[in-house]
Amino acid sequence: MKHFLQPDDYRQDFSAYTAEDLRSRGIRFLMCDIDNTLVTYDDPEPTPRLLAWFKELQEAGITVGFMSNNDEARVSRFNRELGFTAFPDAHKPLTKTMKRFLKESGLRREEVAHLGDQIFTDVCMARACGVTSLLVPPIKDVLTPFFRFKRMLEKPLVAYYVAHRRSN
Ligand SMILES: [Mg+2]
Repeated sequence: MKHFLQPDDYRQDFSAYTAEDLRSRGIRFLMCDIDNTLVTYDDPEPTPRLLAWFKELQEAGITVGFMSNNDEARVSRFNRELGFTAFPDAHKPLTKTMKRFLKESGLRREEVAHLGDQIFTDVCMARACGVTSLLVPPIKDVLTPFFRFKRMLEKPLVAYYVAHRRSN
């Protein structure tokens, strides 16, 4: 049985989630965390590799959006050229932003996935909302004591998940 800290899938990089994979899960909208999921905190704009992945998803009919706990300035700069649906200051793991999106978009929760790098914010929020939760390892850990502490707590959970993923 899945619990609130367990993602539906865990892969080493965002690009490992292909358009075909997402389509086969019935996903029509992929909501992405930005920091440490798609780029590092130091990248103000999407990388060429990331743009190529977005294009692949869009060509397969999957819409991409951003849901970030970072502020408006960071998210709008990152999204400037793309103009995707974007929610800064999302306050994950609180569910209000995703629930608002589901209501406003008219999408069913089965049609929406959320991709992120943190169990206690990204996975927790997605599971609580009933959307598909996709996890990647953080691109670059932020070396503050608080983040290191959270990563330390996450490690055994990810290890447990990877060890048991086949038996789900
Ligand atoms: Mg993140």
